[in-house]
Amino acid sequence: MSPCSESGSDPLASLPVHLNKTDLLGLTFEQLELALDHWGVGKGQAKRVFRGLHVKQQALTEIESLGRHAQVIAQHSEIAQARLVTAVKSPDGTEKLLLELYDGAQIEAVLLPMRRERYTLCVSTQVGCAMACAFCATGTMGLKRTLSAGELVAQVYQAFQYVQTKFNQSGPQDQKVLSHLVLMGMGEPLHYYERTRSALKVLLGQHGLCFSARKVTVSTVGLVPAMQRFSQDFEGRVQLALSLHAGRDETRQKIMPVAKKWPLALLKETLLKHPLPGRRVLMLEYVVLPGVNDSPEELDAVAEFCTGLRALVNLIPFNPFKNSPFRSPTEAEVLAVDQGLKQRGVPCSIRVTRGREKSGACGQLAIEGYA
Ligand code: SAH
Repeated sequence: MSPCSESGSDPLASLPVHLNKTDLLGLTFEQLELALDHWGVGKGQAKRVFRGLHVKQQALTEIESLGRHAQVIAQHSEIAQARLVTAVKSPDGTEKLLLELYDGAQIEAVLLPMRRERYTLCVSTQVGCAMACAFCATGTMGLKRTLSAGELVAQVYQAFQYVQTKFNQSGPQDQKVLSHLVLMGMGEPLHYYERTRSALKVLLGQHGLCFSARKVTVSTVGLVPAMQRFSQDFEGRVQLALSLHAGRDETRQKIMPVAKKWPLALLKETLLKHPLPGRRVLMLEYVVLPGVNDSPEELDAVAEFCTGLRALVNLIPFNPFKNSPFRSPTEAEVLAVDQGLKQRGVPCSIRVTRGREKSGACGQLAIEGYA
């Protein structure tokens, strides 16, 4: 028994776990201090270890002046990995990274170039997904497993290094940076919310890479209890996106099984309580499925849902995948929804489809398109 657990309660029991050990990459700075103290390494090493792991992205043995402590830390903990297998580029500049986890499971992360040498990374939180939305390729895979917090962090670091080494060889001028994260890859980020929470705390925390909260977006199918916790934990500073996709429960239930559990009225109540600091707005995603969710009655219901919410509807033209039961909308069909919502007083925008040529667009991530 460790010296501090004599009272019966182990102070490390609540820390994130990876492979039955403490999930080193998933620990916040304060949690790392606690763990190092407990393992006899001492709090004083926390800054050095945290900077090594998160800023320099080093292995324990590479961290300067850590000496024998490296071994002690390694005994108690595990550093999650997300190995880069391959990358494919779409003609529009989007790059899809195929990453492999310790058990051979594969996930995808998509790098989206933006203006001014910035990149957004579309992050996966699970291998597959349990939500089974009818219009989503990942949903057809079922849930294989959820990433640990450390694996989520490792995925971001792998993409970070990819940007650094691939694009920044020409010197310090025009350095490209990974600045934005969207948790919109494979999986439902609020399904095992604890893990997403830990990873976000690490990525946003002040001693690491310090991602800016307003440049991070979490997209959810609408798991109400986890949404409430997310609102409290991040006080609205991290952007919340809800996959709305219909204005009526009846329609929503046809395309999103989760809608049977969490009806629109409850979602709206939850969104009304979500804090919106400054000029923040909620994002409501709406995949345009012709003949399914674009009727005037549906748009009336969307407008009704949006009444009283500070929200922007983001229209996503349906991206097709193998054997998908829906067809893509024409440009005119997407514009009609856009106009229809605007006429009803709903602010809305159309998401530019990117990466579709290599199956890297919204809802197409299912480990295909690497040929
Ligand atoms: N599980 C999260 C993240 C999913 S991916 C969520 O459901 O919000 C991000 C967005 O892409 C979601 O709004 C999702 O519904 C949408 N999407 C899924 N499949 C799609 C497809 N084939 N075409 C267009 N958008 C899709």
